[in-house]
Amino acid sequence: MLFDAHNHLQDPRFGDALPEIIETMQEAGISKCVVNGTHEGDWPKVARLFEKYPEFVIPSFGLHPWNIDQRSPEWSRHLNQFLNNFPHAGVGECGLDRWIPSPDLEAQHAVFRTHLKLADELNRPLTIHCLRAWGPLMEELRPLTSFPKMLLHSFNGSREIAQELAKFGAYFSFSGSFLHERKSSLREIFRNLPPDRILLETDAPDMLPPSKFQEFPLKELNHPANLQAIAQGFTDEIGLSSELTAQNGARFFQFF
Ligand SMILES: [Zn+2]
Repeated sequence: MLFDAHNHLQDPRFGDALPEIIETMQEAGISKCVVNGTHEGDWPKVARLFEKYPEFVIPSFGLHPWNIDQRSPEWSRHLNQFLNNFPHAGVGECGLDRWIPSPDLEAQHAVFRTHLKLADELNRPLTIHCLRAWGPLMEELRPLTSFPKMLLHSFNGSREIAQELAKFGAYFSFSGSFLHERKSSLREIFRNLPPDRILLETDAPDMLPPSKFQEFPLKELNHPANLQAIAQGFTDEIGLSSELTAQNGARFFQFF
């Protein structure tokens, strides 16, 4: 069994090809995946995907830091509604990002804090995006007395940050793009993480793996069925089985 801990099947770039893409994923042995909403406008699409493929899709609803400018004044009420309507949904993708040009960090912190609080109160798994913002992230987490279940998706922080996050109970997902030659130090960090906290993801349609892992070419997009080849690359590099990462995923996202 293969489990994709993070993708965006609702992405408009998949277009009409989506049903066929999902069929290919299933043929490639992927039995479940988490589809992450990124702004209010795509939450209904994520919800519809779950309704169409209830055994295959775990929905997650959040406001990605790249999209916070588009949020409506009612966004947190909308988020609450989606989470109430979908009791098995996760919270996210949300997070902090200093990689984008002129990030509004103050707004990012406020939006992220809302997600953190909701995930903790509703006891939902929280998917976190963090790019070049490890200081700001730790600033948010260190004062907390209780932590939601957190997944650092495509984790690319340092070993020290990983250790501290692991103490907070965090999980970490390994992306196919980490198989690029130049990412060897990141792979070394994953070799040193607790094996029971590691998940596998595609982040499809983004984060293309190296070409030899693009078993299902899809123009310039990352086909989510590439997870099959990525899982093999992960096992060869990190020395852990994709079975284990699927079990970790089942524990984290609570499906059995
Ligand atoms: Zn993502």
